[in-house]
Amino acid sequence: SGASQYRILREADLRDYLAGVPAIVTQLGGAPADWSISEVGDGNLNLVFIVKGGTGGIAVKQALPYVRLVGESWPLPLSRAHYEHMALVHQARLASELVPAVLHHDAELALTAMELLEPHIIMRKGLIEATRYPRFVDDISTFLAQTLFFSSDLALSAAAKKQGIADFAGNHALCKITEDLIFTDPYRIAEQNRWTAPYLDATAAAFREDLDLHVAISRLKLKFMASPEALLHGDLHTGSIMVTESETKVIDPEFAFYGPMGFDIGAVIGNLLMAYLASAGHERTPGERAPFEAWLLETIEGVWTGFSQRFLALWRSEADGDGYPASLFTGEAGAVRLEAERQAYMARLFRDTVGFAAAKTIRRILGLAHNIDFEWIADEKQRAICEARALKLARGMMLEAGSYTTIGAVTYAARELR
Ligand code: ADP
Ligand code: MG
Ligand code: MG
Ligand code: MG
Repeated sequence: SGASQYRILREADLRDYLAGVPAIVTQLGGAPADWSISEVGDGNLNLVFIVKGGTGGIAVKQALPYVRLVGESWPLPLSRAHYEHMALVHQARLASELVPAVLHHDAELALTAMELLEPHIIMRKGLIEATRYPRFVDDISTFLAQTLFFSSDLALSAAAKKQGIADFAGNHALCKITEDLIFTDPYRIAEQNRWTAPYLDATAAAFREDLDLHVAISRLKLKFMASPEALLHGDLHTGSIMVTESETKVIDPEFAFYGPMGFDIGAVIGNLLMAYLASAGHERTPGERAPFEAWLLETIEGVWTGFSQRFLALWRSEADGDGYPASLFTGEAGAVRLEAERQAYMARLFRDTVGFAAAKTIRRILGLAHNIDFEWIADEKQRAICEARALKLARGMMLEAGSYTTIGAVTYAARELR
């Protein structure tokens, strides 16, 4: 696996390449000529191959020099594979059970070979089928608390934190996608926007005229751009999570950069809220999905409460960083003030989370990239009804983020709309 010039690997080329990597030959077993190779990428950006040998399998992800969904007219740097690999290594160190193990990385080919997740499926698909995932709350709240806390100033020295920011600063092209597609385009006329027409035409027009909303989304955009609190996954929707009923694995961290923690937490919560409000569109008989929907709302509540408990526990016991120096909070009075400050920090983080969850929802309904939770509702009128509920919830969350002081207030508002 020495130096290699970038080229897009098609099947025969990939087979030859993988046959030259000893760790992969060992993992796959059997003769390279007998390995099966299939391209399974369903994401917007990259190629993903599943390769199976005599005794094992792997997944191989290769970045293309452009956006897969759009084509060569939209170039995108190959370096995103480098940032994805660095993020996977960081996550594996902090939450090793919750990400696929990396077997091999080739920076020049923008290629990473990793553990094959099987029989895991993309969580979004499981949620459409009304499958419940009992491990999910504990797993995702552990992933969030571990990866966010240990890359923050609460855990790191000032020098290590700034080095981390520098290590990911070059991933700005991926950040720019988020800045445009999530925080800007859905609120203005943009060629690539789409929505369920004609039903949502008036709502889309109203969102483009709503200056209160434009202020709120711009504040969130600035927070996204100017708050390097922790190393984010950066694209933590339910299409970046693979699950069985007993395992949770987070994939696809190519958008990783140092940003505001609420963006990752809000991504999870916003996508679960969309799954909840899309659920009515997937029922064949009224009420058949009620137990699943009740589970989803409990799950949304559990993500925030599980995250905040774990994060606070880490802060109380593992805070070796340069933020909040212990020497400024001595004695009983100091301990009391520091604990109050932790609670205030979590309240602020919750407001951010509510706002980012709303931003993630609106972009999936009025922007370029939609999700199958809604898209797979075949009856367009029914789909638009579900989407309009989600837009109404998200608009309220974004404008009144401060009045949603508990996660229960969010799930209550969602339930009222269902
Ligand atoms: P993109 O960045 O293009 O969205 P992803 O990393 O999300 O690419 O992968 C695209 C798809 O490939 C996933 O939705 C999943 O179906 C499959 N996939 C990715 N990684 C693995 C893996 N380790 N094991 C099995 N399937 C995977
Ligand atoms: Mg993906
Ligand atoms: Mg993705
Ligand atoms: Mg991706």
